[in-house]
Amino acid sequence: MNASSRRRPVIWVLNFVVGCKCFLNHSRHHRQFCSKIAAASNSGSYNFGKESDLLIDPKLIDARLIYTVAPALGHNQEAHPECHLRVPAIVSALEKMELTPKFRGSEIIELQGFKPASVDDIARVHNKAYVAGLEKAMDQAADEGIIFIDGTGPTYATYSTFQESLVAAGAGLALVDSVVMSQTGTLVAASKNSYNPPTGFALIRPPGHHAIPKGPMGFCVFGNVAIAARHAQLVHGLRRVLIIDFDVHHGNGTNDAFYDDPDIFFLSVHQDGSYPGTGKIDDIGQGDGEGATLNLPLPGGSGDTAMRTVFDEVIAPCAQRFKPDIILVSAGYDGHVLDHLASQQYTTATFYMLASNIKQLAKDLCGGRCVFFLEGGYNLDSLSYSVADSFRALLGEASLASEFDNPAILYEEPLTRVQQAIERVKHLHSL
Ligand SMILES: [Zn+2]
Repeated sequence: MNASSRRRPVIWVLNFVVGCKCFLNHSRHHRQFCSKIAAASNSGSYNFGKESDLLIDPKLIDARLIYTVAPALGHNQEAHPECHLRVPAIVSALEKMELTPKFRGSEIIELQGFKPASVDDIARVHNKAYVAGLEKAMDQAADEGIIFIDGTGPTYATYSTFQESLVAAGAGLALVDSVVMSQTGTLVAASKNSYNPPTGFALIRPPGHHAIPKGPMGFCVFGNVAIAARHAQLVHGLRRVLIIDFDVHHGNGTNDAFYDDPDIFFLSVHQDGSYPGTGKIDDIGQGDGEGATLNLPLPGGSGDTAMRTVFDEVIAPCAQRFKPDIILVSAGYDGHVLDHLASQQYTTATFYMLASNIKQLAKDLCGGRCVFFLEGGYNLDSLSYSVADSFRALLGEASLASEFDNPAILYEEPLTRVQQAIERVKHLHSL
């Protein structure tokens, strides 16, 4: 590989070849672990055997926040907004602001040593042919340095994209396992009755919510949150999953994966007219899933007041009516006023409010079971500061958003049009 080959654009058309075997061995432990949980789940209790490949730390009982880090350092294109600097920038902000285990003891836990997702995990959402085709394309990516997947945004891939995307998805599954398992069996018996599990936060990339069942799209390779939703159902027996997506773009991949599924409620708040142009307000699901998809496009320029109103008038009543068993969050920070991939005016305080309120919803509705998944967010400063303030919200600590936000750069929000959109969605969904 050399510099010139790295820059050469190659149009790669997905090669749908079935027969992926290579990765299965790598994920053997994860699958064994999951089947142990599934077996235990059927008998009503979890058995933490000595030889189990445990992902849970006994210290979890004191934890309020548990996170995983999967930075995909090899999956990178020079000058691309979805680049390898994103997760390290967040981690470094967390350290600087003393929001890591080093400073907080057992209150904050970084879950390490988790297993990558297996091909079977991924295939609960994506076509096996796509997964096999992507793995096969890694040789070409290694030769060329980088390849581009035509008609997908575009989405790039490098020699490590397949493996690192499995790690990203696995980082989410490990958090779902930990959040669910910490409530059950011997560990919880030793804890206080008021015990709430820690909230999970997957600091992962590549992001996932644009990836459709048959392929990658919009910087996204595997639908991390969708894969975790199926995992929560099939491995842990949690039937009703609420996915809240506040990335500034429509989560079309998640939308498509569950469009006819009444048990997975997908709620997306995004900027009207932004990429990929889907997620119209009238798209409410189909068949048995009619009414279990809620799309709320907001006009450009919407900001903190708009999102607070959306939370109170749409997200909260919707969640209360659906009664989820777990809440998963597609946490995109690209609606920040300083992020140039869109033109919303959310501030760090907006993201603090969302994290704090969603955590409370989970506490009220589903025993606190809640995992956040990093999606977009491309201004490294606003991304890392907003994730750090989300951490504070999940810890129940005061926001430090005012140290970062600059009200002087904000202009008037289009609140009349925001209210019209809210009234329309409330009417459509009888809220
Ligand atoms: Zn986005």
